[in-house]
Amino acid sequence: MPHFSVAALLLTAVLSLISVQARALDVVATIQPIKLLVAEITDGVVEPKLLLPANTSPHDFQLKPSQRRTIQQADVIFWIGPDMEMALNKPLAQLDDHTLLVTLAEGALDSEKLHQEHDEHEAHEEHEAHQDHDEHKENDAHDEEHDHDEHEAHKEHAEHEENDHDDHAQEAASHEHGHDHEHGEDLHLWLDPHEGERIAKLVAETLSQADPNNRPKYQQNLAEFLTDLEDLDKQLKQRLKPLSGKGYFVFHDAYNRFEAHYGLSHLGAITISPERSPGAKHAAEIRERLIKNEAVCVFSEPQFPSPLVSNLIEGTDVGSGVLDPMGGQIAQGPKGYLRFLEQMAADFEACLSQSNN
Ligand SMILES: [Zn+2]
Ligand SMILES: [Zn+2]
Repeated sequence: MPHFSVAALLLTAVLSLISVQARALDVVATIQPIKLLVAEITDGVVEPKLLLPANTSPHDFQLKPSQRRTIQQADVIFWIGPDMEMALNKPLAQLDDHTLLVTLAEGALDSEKLHQEHDEHEAHEEHEAHQDHDEHKENDAHDEEHDHDEHEAHKEHAEHEENDHDDHAQEAASHEHGHDHEHGEDLHLWLDPHEGERIAKLVAETLSQADPNNRPKYQQNLAEFLTDLEDLDKQLKQRLKPLSGKGYFVFHDAYNRFEAHYGLSHLGAITISPERSPGAKHAAEIRERLIKNEAVCVFSEPQFPSPLVSNLIEGTDVGSGVLDPMGGQIAQGPKGYLRFLEQMAADFEACLSQSNN
Protein backbone atom coordinates (compact mmCIF):
# COMPACT_ATOMS: atom_id res chain seq x y z
CA MET A 1 0.00 0.00 0.00
CA PRO A 2 1.42 3.42 -0.88
CA HIS A 3 2.14 5.79 1.98
CA PHE A 4 0.86 9.28 1.25
CA SER A 5 1.41 12.26 3.46
CA VAL A 6 -1.71 13.55 5.16
CA ALA A 7 -1.40 16.86 3.32
CA ALA A 8 -1.36 15.19 -0.09
CA LEU A 9 -4.32 12.99 0.81
CA LEU A 10 -6.31 15.94 2.08
CA LEU A 11 -6.00 17.77 -1.23
CA THR A 12 -7.67 14.97 -3.16
CA ALA A 13 -10.11 13.91 -0.47
CA VAL A 14 -11.38 17.38 0.42
CA LEU A 15 -12.58 17.88 -3.14
CA SER A 16 -14.62 14.71 -3.02
CA LEU A 17 -15.98 15.38 0.45
CA ILE A 18 -17.61 18.65 -0.61
CA SER A 19 -20.39 16.62 -2.18
CA VAL A 20 -21.26 15.00 1.15
CA GLN A 21 -21.58 18.24 3.10
CA ALA A 22 -25.37 17.92 3.18
CA ARG A 23 -25.10 15.05 5.67
CA ALA A 24 -22.94 14.51 8.73
CA LEU A 25 -19.39 13.35 8.15
CA ASP A 26 -18.99 9.57 8.57
CA VAL A 27 -15.95 9.27 10.85
CA VAL A 28 -14.48 5.88 11.80
CA ALA A 29 -11.76 5.05 14.34
CA THR A 30 -10.30 1.55 14.19
CA ILE A 31 -9.71 1.02 17.92
CA GLN A 32 -11.28 2.30 21.14
CA PRO A 33 -8.46 4.60 22.35
CA ILE A 34 -8.35 6.35 18.96
CA LYS A 35 -12.11 6.68 19.06
CA LEU A 36 -11.86 8.32 22.49
CA LEU A 37 -9.37 10.83 21.09
CA VAL A 38 -11.39 11.56 17.95
CA ALA A 39 -14.55 11.98 20.05
CA GLU A 40 -12.84 14.74 22.06
CA ILE A 41 -12.74 16.74 18.82
CA THR A 42 -16.10 15.72 17.30
CA ASP A 43 -18.08 16.33 20.52
CA GLY A 44 -21.30 18.17 19.63
CA VAL A 45 -20.88 17.48 15.89
CA VAL A 46 -20.88 13.74 15.27
CA GLU A 47 -20.19 10.51 17.18
CA PRO A 48 -17.27 8.62 15.60
CA LYS A 49 -17.87 4.93 14.83
CA LEU A 50 -15.69 2.30 16.45
CA LEU A 51 -14.56 -0.44 14.07
CA LEU A 52 -13.11 -3.00 16.51
CA PRO A 53 -14.79 -3.56 19.89
CA ALA A 54 -12.52 -2.71 22.82
CA ASN A 55 -12.39 -6.31 24.02
CA THR A 56 -10.54 -7.37 20.87
CA SER A 57 -6.79 -7.03 20.62
CA PRO A 58 -5.66 -4.90 17.67
CA HIS A 59 -2.97 -7.52 17.06
CA ASP A 60 -5.31 -10.41 16.51
CA PHE A 61 -8.74 -10.16 14.87
CA GLN A 62 -10.76 -11.02 11.76
CA LEU A 63 -13.09 -8.57 10.05
CA LYS A 64 -16.81 -9.33 9.83
CA PRO A 65 -18.81 -8.36 6.71
CA SER A 66 -20.52 -5.56 8.68
CA GLN A 67 -17.12 -4.14 9.62
CA ARG A 68 -16.07 -4.21 5.97
CA ARG A 69 -19.15 -2.14 5.13
CA THR A 70 -18.30 0.34 7.90
CA ILE A 71 -14.89 0.83 6.30
CA GLN A 72 -16.29 1.19 2.80
CA GLN A 73 -18.91 3.77 3.81
CA ALA A 74 -16.56 5.96 5.87
CA ASP A 75 -15.60 9.48 4.82
CA VAL A 76 -12.60 9.57 7.16
CA ILE A 77 -10.83 6.66 8.88
CA PHE A 78 -8.24 7.08 11.62
CA TRP A 79 -5.96 4.11 12.30
CA ILE A 80 -2.53 3.60 13.86
CA GLY A 81 -0.97 1.92 10.84
CA PRO A 82 0.07 -1.21 8.97
CA ASP A 83 2.22 -2.62 11.79
CA MET A 84 -0.53 -2.33 14.41
CA GLU A 85 -3.96 -3.24 12.95
CA MET A 86 -2.41 -5.77 10.58
CA ALA A 87 -5.65 -7.43 9.53
CA LEU A 88 -6.78 -4.07 8.10
CA ASN A 89 -3.92 -3.73 5.62
CA LYS A 90 -5.80 -5.38 2.77
CA PRO A 91 -9.29 -3.88 3.22
CA LEU A 92 -7.85 -0.40 3.74
CA ALA A 93 -5.77 -0.73 0.57
CA GLN A 94 -9.00 -1.30 -1.37
CA LEU A 95 -10.78 1.90 -0.28
CA ASP A 96 -12.23 4.06 -3.02
CA ASP A 97 -11.43 7.75 -3.48
CA HIS A 98 -14.19 9.13 -1.27
CA THR A 99 -12.56 7.80 1.91
CA LEU A 100 -9.72 9.69 3.55
CA LEU A 101 -7.37 7.36 5.44
CA VAL A 102 -5.25 8.97 8.17
CA THR A 103 -2.29 6.87 9.38
CA LEU A 104 -1.38 8.07 12.88
CA ALA A 105 1.92 6.16 13.01
CA GLU A 106 3.25 8.50 10.32
CA GLY A 107 4.83 11.44 12.08
CA ALA A 108 4.82 9.72 15.49
CA LEU A 109 7.05 11.53 17.98
CA ASP A 110 10.43 10.08 18.95
CA SER A 111 9.65 8.87 22.46
CA GLU A 112 13.24 8.43 23.62
CA LYS A 113 14.36 11.88 22.54
CA LEU A 114 11.19 13.55 23.73
CA HIS A 115 11.18 12.11 27.22
CA GLN A 116 14.93 12.37 27.82
CA GLU A 117 14.95 16.08 27.09
CA HIS A 118 11.77 16.43 29.05
CA ASP A 119 13.41 15.03 32.19
CA GLU A 120 16.59 17.08 31.89
CA HIS A 121 14.76 20.34 31.45
CA GLU A 122 11.83 19.71 33.70
CA ALA A 123 12.64 22.73 35.87
CA HIS A 124 12.63 25.00 32.83
CA GLU A 125 9.61 23.41 31.24
CA GLU A 126 7.37 26.44 31.21
CA HIS A 127 10.09 28.78 30.11
CA GLU A 128 10.99 26.48 27.21
CA ALA A 129 7.39 26.12 26.20
CA HIS A 130 7.10 29.88 25.89
CA GLN A 131 10.23 30.06 23.80
CA ASP A 132 8.89 27.40 21.48
CA HIS A 133 5.72 29.35 21.11
CA ASP A 134 7.57 32.52 20.16
CA GLU A 135 9.73 30.71 17.63
CA HIS A 136 6.68 29.13 16.15
CA LYS A 137 5.08 32.54 15.66
CA GLU A 138 8.12 33.87 13.86
CA ASN A 139 8.07 30.86 11.58
CA ASP A 140 4.43 31.23 10.69
CA ALA A 141 5.33 33.27 7.63
CA HIS A 142 7.24 30.30 6.24
CA ASP A 143 4.50 27.77 6.81
CA GLU A 144 4.11 26.99 3.13
CA GLU A 145 7.78 26.15 2.81
CA HIS A 146 7.55 23.96 5.89
CA ASP A 147 4.61 22.06 4.50
CA HIS A 148 6.62 21.35 1.40
CA ASP A 149 9.58 20.15 3.44
CA GLU A 150 7.38 17.91 5.52
CA HIS A 151 5.88 16.41 2.42
CA GLU A 152 9.33 15.57 1.08
CA ALA A 153 10.32 14.08 4.41
CA HIS A 154 7.26 11.86 4.34
CA LYS A 155 8.14 10.58 0.90
CA GLU A 156 11.62 9.62 2.02
CA HIS A 157 10.17 8.04 5.11
CA ALA A 158 7.76 6.00 3.02
CA GLU A 159 10.55 4.73 0.77
CA HIS A 160 12.62 3.84 3.78
CA GLU A 161 9.72 1.96 5.29
CA GLU A 162 9.21 -0.08 2.16
CA ASN A 163 12.87 -1.06 2.10
CA ASP A 164 12.70 -1.92 5.74
CA HIS A 165 9.82 -4.24 5.10
CA ASP A 166 11.75 -6.04 2.38
CA ASP A 167 14.80 -6.44 4.58
CA HIS A 168 12.75 -7.76 7.41
CA ALA A 169 10.13 -9.60 5.42
CA GLN A 170 10.55 -12.65 7.57
CA GLU A 171 10.36 -10.67 10.75
CA ALA A 172 7.18 -8.93 9.61
CA ALA A 173 5.63 -12.31 8.95
CA SER A 174 6.56 -13.46 12.42
CA HIS A 175 4.36 -12.89 15.44
CA GLU A 176 6.24 -9.95 16.93
CA HIS A 177 4.34 -7.29 15.01
CA GLY A 178 3.93 -3.98 16.76
CA HIS A 179 6.29 -5.02 19.53
CA ASP A 180 9.62 -4.98 17.73
CA HIS A 181 11.06 -1.97 19.50
CA GLU A 182 14.62 -2.50 18.36
CA HIS A 183 13.62 -1.42 14.88
CA GLY A 184 11.06 1.18 15.79
CA GLU A 185 8.95 2.90 18.37
CA ASP A 186 6.24 1.45 20.58
CA LEU A 187 3.15 1.80 18.37
CA HIS A 188 0.72 1.97 21.31
CA LEU A 189 0.97 5.70 20.68
CA TRP A 190 -2.17 6.74 22.54
CA LEU A 191 -0.62 5.85 25.91
CA ASP A 192 1.65 8.91 25.68
CA PRO A 193 -0.05 12.24 26.47
CA HIS A 194 2.39 13.87 24.04
CA GLU A 195 0.89 11.69 21.31
CA GLY A 196 -2.60 12.44 22.61
CA GLU A 197 -1.85 16.10 21.95
CA ARG A 198 -0.33 15.48 18.51
CA ILE A 199 -3.16 13.20 17.39
CA ALA A 200 -5.88 15.56 18.67
CA LYS A 201 -4.34 18.42 16.67
CA LEU A 202 -4.13 16.22 13.57
CA VAL A 203 -7.75 15.08 13.97
CA ALA A 204 -8.95 18.67 14.40
CA GLU A 205 -7.08 19.86 11.31
CA THR A 206 -8.18 16.89 9.20
CA LEU A 207 -11.85 17.25 10.12
CA SER A 208 -11.78 21.04 9.77
CA GLN A 209 -10.62 20.62 6.18
CA ALA A 210 -12.99 17.78 5.37
CA ASP A 211 -15.98 19.50 7.02
CA PRO A 212 -15.26 23.26 7.01
CA ASN A 213 -18.77 24.16 8.22
CA ASN A 214 -17.93 22.72 11.61
CA ARG A 215 -14.37 24.06 11.81
CA PRO A 216 -15.18 26.49 14.68
CA LYS A 217 -16.59 23.65 16.80
CA TYR A 218 -13.64 21.32 16.08
CA GLN A 219 -11.17 24.07 16.95
CA GLN A 220 -13.06 24.99 20.13
CA ASN A 221 -13.12 21.33 21.21
CA LEU A 222 -9.39 21.06 20.51
CA ALA A 223 -8.57 24.13 22.60
CA GLU A 224 -10.62 22.82 25.54
CA PHE A 225 -9.11 19.36 25.23
CA LEU A 226 -5.53 20.68 25.23
CA THR A 227 -6.18 22.75 28.36
CA ASP A 228 -7.77 19.78 30.16
CA LEU A 229 -4.98 17.46 29.05
CA GLU A 230 -2.29 19.78 30.39
CA ASP A 231 -4.05 20.03 33.77
CA LEU A 232 -4.56 16.27 34.05
CA ASP A 233 -0.99 15.56 32.95
CA LYS A 234 0.38 17.74 35.77
CA GLN A 235 -1.79 15.91 38.33
CA LEU A 236 -0.77 12.48 37.05
CA LYS A 237 2.94 13.39 37.15
CA GLN A 238 2.58 14.28 40.83
CA ARG A 239 0.66 11.08 41.59
CA LEU A 240 3.05 8.74 39.78
CA LYS A 241 6.32 10.37 40.82
CA PRO A 242 6.65 8.40 44.11
CA LEU A 243 6.30 5.11 42.17
CA SER A 244 9.29 5.58 39.88
CA GLY A 245 11.51 2.99 41.60
CA LYS A 246 8.90 0.22 41.84
CA GLY A 247 9.50 -3.07 40.02
CA TYR A 248 6.70 -4.77 38.10
CA PHE A 249 5.92 -7.01 35.13
CA VAL A 250 3.46 -6.08 32.39
CA PHE A 251 1.47 -8.63 30.41
CA HIS A 252 2.58 -7.45 26.98
CA ASP A 253 5.03 -4.80 25.89
CA ALA A 254 2.56 -1.97 25.28
CA TYR A 255 3.27 0.71 27.87
CA ASN A 256 6.69 2.11 26.96
CA ARG A 257 5.36 5.54 26.07
CA PHE A 258 3.24 5.89 29.20
CA GLU A 259 6.17 4.68 31.30
CA ALA A 260 8.67 7.00 29.63
CA HIS A 261 6.32 9.93 30.06
CA TYR A 262 5.68 9.31 33.77
CA GLY A 263 9.06 7.92 34.81
CA LEU A 264 7.99 4.30 35.38
CA SER A 265 9.79 1.23 34.04
CA HIS A 266 8.80 -2.43 33.90
CA LEU A 267 11.16 -5.30 34.72
CA GLY A 268 9.84 -7.34 31.82
CA ALA A 269 6.82 -8.51 29.85
CA ILE A 270 5.17 -11.87 30.45
CA THR A 271 4.45 -12.47 26.77
CA ILE A 272 6.68 -11.36 23.94
CA SER A 273 3.72 -11.75 21.63
CA PRO A 274 0.35 -11.32 23.36
CA GLU A 275 -1.44 -13.90 21.19
CA ARG A 276 0.84 -16.71 22.32
CA SER A 277 1.74 -18.24 25.64
CA PRO A 278 5.27 -17.53 26.86
CA GLY A 279 7.81 -20.31 26.80
CA ALA A 280 8.27 -22.35 29.96
CA LYS A 281 11.79 -21.00 30.41
CA HIS A 282 10.67 -17.35 30.23
CA ALA A 283 7.87 -18.02 32.73
CA ALA A 284 10.26 -19.80 35.10
CA GLU A 285 12.67 -16.85 35.00
CA ILE A 286 9.89 -14.42 35.92
CA ARG A 287 8.69 -16.74 38.67
CA GLU A 288 12.20 -16.81 40.14
CA ARG A 289 12.39 -13.01 40.21
CA LEU A 290 8.96 -12.83 41.87
CA ILE A 291 10.06 -15.25 44.59
CA LYS A 292 13.08 -12.99 45.19
CA ASN A 293 10.66 -10.08 45.70
CA GLU A 294 12.11 -8.04 42.83
CA ALA A 295 8.61 -6.90 41.87
CA VAL A 296 5.64 -5.56 43.80
CA CYS A 297 3.11 -6.27 41.06
CA VAL A 298 2.30 -8.31 37.95
CA PHE A 299 -0.28 -6.90 35.53
CA SER A 300 -2.70 -8.85 33.37
CA GLU A 301 -4.85 -7.51 30.50
CA PRO A 302 -8.58 -8.05 29.87
CA GLN A 303 -7.99 -8.80 26.15
CA PHE A 304 -6.02 -11.93 27.10
CA PRO A 305 -7.86 -13.82 29.84
CA SER A 306 -5.36 -16.30 31.19
CA PRO A 307 -4.42 -18.01 34.46
CA LEU A 308 -0.79 -17.06 33.78
CA VAL A 309 -0.57 -14.16 36.21
CA SER A 310 -2.23 -15.96 39.13
CA ASN A 311 0.00 -18.99 38.51
CA LEU A 312 3.11 -16.81 38.48
CA ILE A 313 2.37 -15.02 41.75
CA GLU A 314 0.95 -18.02 43.62
CA GLY A 315 2.63 -18.44 47.00
CA THR A 316 4.57 -15.15 46.68
CA ASP A 317 3.90 -11.76 48.29
CA VAL A 318 3.63 -10.10 44.89
CA GLY A 319 0.34 -8.39 44.07
CA SER A 320 -1.56 -8.40 40.81
CA GLY A 321 -3.45 -5.75 38.90
CA VAL A 322 -5.13 -5.20 35.55
CA LEU A 323 -4.03 -2.71 32.89
CA ASP A 324 -6.32 -2.20 29.91
CA PRO A 325 -4.38 -0.53 27.09
CA MET A 326 -7.57 -0.48 24.98
CA GLY A 327 -9.75 1.42 27.46
CA GLY A 328 -12.51 -1.18 27.32
CA GLN A 329 -14.10 -0.04 30.60
CA ILE A 330 -14.22 3.65 29.70
CA ALA A 331 -17.90 4.66 29.58
CA GLN A 332 -19.37 6.58 26.64
CA GLY A 333 -19.55 10.33 27.02
CA PRO A 334 -17.39 13.45 26.97
CA LYS A 335 -13.73 13.56 27.98
CA GLY A 336 -13.27 9.84 27.33
CA TYR A 337 -9.56 10.04 26.50
CA LEU A 338 -8.85 12.03 29.65
CA ARG A 339 -10.76 9.47 31.74
CA PHE A 340 -8.79 6.72 29.98
CA LEU A 341 -5.42 8.29 30.93
CA GLU A 342 -6.58 8.82 34.50
CA GLN A 343 -7.75 5.20 34.74
CA MET A 344 -4.40 3.95 33.43
CA ALA A 345 -2.57 6.03 36.06
CA ALA A 346 -4.94 4.85 38.81
CA ASP A 347 -4.42 1.18 37.86
CA PHE A 348 -0.63 1.56 37.96
CA GLU A 349 -0.89 3.46 41.24
CA ALA A 350 -3.20 0.96 42.94
CA CYS A 351 -0.86 -1.98 42.37
CA LEU A 352 2.52 -0.26 42.62
CA SER A 353 1.81 1.49 45.91
CA GLN A 354 1.53 -1.93 47.57
CA SER A 355 4.53 -3.12 49.50
CA ASN A 356 5.64 -6.73 49.72
CA ASN A 357 8.37 -6.26 52.28
ZN1 LIG B 1 0.20 -4.48 21.75
ZN1 LIG C 1 5.18 11.91 26.57
